[in-house]
Amino acid sequence: MDTSSPNAIVDPSVSRRKFLNLSALALMGGALATTSRIWAASPVEDAETANIMPHTDGAFAVAPLPYAYDALEPTIDRETMYLHHDKHYGTYTKNLNEALSKVPEWKSKSITELLANIPSIPPSVRKTIRNNGGGYYNHSLFWRWMTPHGGGTPEGPLATAIDKTFGSLSAMREQLNKEAASIFGSGWAWLIVRDNDGELEITSTPNQDNPLMKGIAESFGKPVLGVDVWEHSYYLKYKNARPKYLDAWWKVVNWKTASALYAAAKPSV
Ligand code: MN
Repeated sequence: MDTSSPNAIVDPSVSRRKFLNLSALALMGGALATTSRIWAASPVEDAETANIMPHTDGAFAVAPLPYAYDALEPTIDRETMYLHHDKHYGTYTKNLNEALSKVPEWKSKSITELLANIPSIPPSVRKTIRNNGGGYYNHSLFWRWMTPHGGGTPEGPLATAIDKTFGSLSAMREQLNKEAASIFGSGWAWLIVRDNDGELEITSTPNQDNPLMKGIAESFGKPVLGVDVWEHSYYLKYKNARPKYLDAWWKVVNWKTASALYAAAKPSV
């Protein structure tokens, strides 16, 4: 048997199936509740995001920008980074925490658990948690998907997987840029590890949705790399020229973050 085949990737799916089964039992018992982990993120994934997105009893912390506001210049200007991090992201975080304070039974969930279970969240706060929880997760990673020492090329298993799926790094970049440029309105373009077979895929989501949102996202999986195409992420410098922003963005991409997320999503490689 070829152990490098996608079918050999059993650990994450097996643990997920276990949780799904538990979830079904809990539902049948009328106990969809507070303590049941209904659609849990894998422990590996949680370990990867827990440091970046810590929460204490439903209060998620704003992740500090891991570099100065002006560190990504000239690709991304200081003013944009300040507004984007302190104002937009700060507001998503605040709104998420306020919504969670109204549903105590959801306060113990990690961010990945919340996002994987949006359809099960009470309707009174479901949309708020979808939008602001998505915004919290997406941006918490976005700051780390960029670095002043960025650009270049990925190494190791991620580089191999990109070549295998897309033919080359430049082909992958071209496809991601095309996906991002074609989003109508606000949203995100993603490179993900697909949940059903562990393969890489390029996809996009509107607004602050993301590929963790089971039952919502068209393609379901774990983000390896994501680019924000909301106008607030580029308009001050690039105005309406989204493709110019996308071309420049690769100069600050942090492949170390992408590689770590790939390894966490696909621990068998
Ligand atoms: Mn944004």
